[in-house]
Amino acid sequence: MAETFASATAGPDQDAPLRARLSFDLDVDICVIGAGLAGLTVAIEAARLGASVAVLEGRHIGWNASGRHLGTVMPGYGLPIGDLIERVGLNDARELWQLSKQGADYVRAAAAAMPGMTLTEGALEVSNVDAGETLISRLQTLSEDFSTEVEGWQVDRVREQLGTPRYFHGIHFPRAFQVDSGQYIKGLAGQARRAGVRIFEDTPVVSIDPSGIRKRVVTPSARLRASHIVAAGNVHLGAPLRRLSETLLPVWRYAAVTEPLGERLGETIAFRGSVADSDGVDHFRVVDGDRLMWASPETTWEARPSRFGPVIARRIAAIYPRLGKVAMAELFGGAVGVTVHGMPQIGQVQKGLWVASGFGRQGLNTSAMAGQLIARSILQGDERWKLFSPFELVWAGGATGRVAGHLIGMWGRGSSAVAGALARYREGARARESVREARLAEANRQAGTRSRRPPGMPRPPPSPEAQDEAATRAVASRESEQIRGGSV
Ligand SMILES: Cc1cc2nc3c(=O)[nH]c(=O)nc-3n(C[C@H](O)[C@H](O)[C@H](O)COP(=O)(O)OP(=O)(O)OC[C@H]3O[C@@H](n4cnc5c(N)ncnc54)[C@H](O)[C@@H]3O)c2cc1C
Repeated sequence: MAETFASATAGPDQDAPLRARLSFDLDVDICVIGAGLAGLTVAIEAARLGASVAVLEGRHIGWNASGRHLGTVMPGYGLPIGDLIERVGLNDARELWQLSKQGADYVRAAAAAMPGMTLTEGALEVSNVDAGETLISRLQTLSEDFSTEVEGWQVDRVREQLGTPRYFHGIHFPRAFQVDSGQYIKGLAGQARRAGVRIFEDTPVVSIDPSGIRKRVVTPSARLRASHIVAAGNVHLGAPLRRLSETLLPVWRYAAVTEPLGERLGETIAFRGSVADSDGVDHFRVVDGDRLMWASPETTWEARPSRFGPVIARRIAAIYPRLGKVAMAELFGGAVGVTVHGMPQIGQVQKGLWVASGFGRQGLNTSAMAGQLIARSILQGDERWKLFSPFELVWAGGATGRVAGHLIGMWGRGSSAVAGALARYREGARARESVREARLAEANRQAGTRSRRPPGMPRPPPSPEAQDEAATRAVASRESEQIRGGSV
């Protein structure tokens, strides 16, 4: 079984030059710190607009989450759309949403220009609970107020396409798509080089001096001067801008790719896009025809991805018991930066010092959007990044914040899973009850006896409390065991 922490799978790129370290002093227009999705996109866009750009990367291109992820590209942000409207009002929320769609379009166009890249289409957000009403109102908001192509899928369609009774309704995003993460980051680096960007790896930025017109950047073996610095180092930025790093809560997310599952996978899951449950617990898709790529567990501290093989296997078994025993071929993980308000950090924090971070679990469209916004602001005076200014840089609490974040995450994910189990239990109980009623009526008819209840009088249902109690007893222990496992 292969184990990769973050993006080691991005691997050597035959077309790329050998890793270059910055070993001489350099003067450029723009210095970007970090060669992840965000840093590379800012660099490409700025170079295409005529700036001289250097990217300084402490490890190697795509070293963290940007090199290995699930590749789902959707419109929107980590912050739910209702909360976005509440925070900034409908008009600004619409503009922000539009920008997030443009970010997704950017990724599609960039991927289309990468040789050998094949996209898979469509993403499905499924509900763990029977919440048709909520779904309809969300569908209306997305399609009518935010001009987003979406389809509401009834429970039957969701279950037929996904081959599990686990989920209820779904929202299908037919224009969402998936990229291969390794190919995408290599492709971005190639596009950056062709645009004239100079990328230096093994070059950590150890300090910066952002005062003055020409800002100074210090690395272990060289100094660089630039008119603009873009901090795109995400949660690993560290010493050069400690206060900025502390506005992010690092969350390590882990995923696996299974061994080939053969025909049983195709017989079970018909849908070929990606699937995410509405509580953010599981995110998966079929890859290479007969393997599952599955992300689920999270921690607020760094751990080895191999620890999570059994946890992911249990999640798959809970949702797809008919797949039987599933072996893992590869495990990987990476740190995402989560902000207190759930929106990315995009903008100018002081003259000539920019930030592009905090893209959370939805970093493909949002980092692409950030790259465009920042490059256009520096070089063309586009001020749309100011739409993000209501979302201030807020201290995420350092180590205390991590513990609190973990507890809140566990509670949210755990309680929503139990709610899902209750909803499925109620549905099962209703079905079992009507089968029992039919059998009883048939037995009475054959025996020529009458039901002890007057005809037409339905059997009183068990009280909701009794249902909940029974359901909680039946399933909560199993669920909470899985959730505890999922949050190790
Ligand atoms: C398992 C998993 C699945 C995911 N699935 C999806 C998905 O399907 N769709 C989606 O949209 N998003 C997904 N994401 C989220 C997405 O991968 C991230 O949001 C995105 O990669 C963040 O990109 P970034 O450039 O901001 O940060 P990073 O990838 O962290 O890049 C930052 C880079 O900066 C460098 N750096 C930091 N500090 C310094 C310094 N001082 N000097 C020099 N270099 C420095 C680091 O070495 C790193 O390479 C997933 C994440 C994970 C972990």
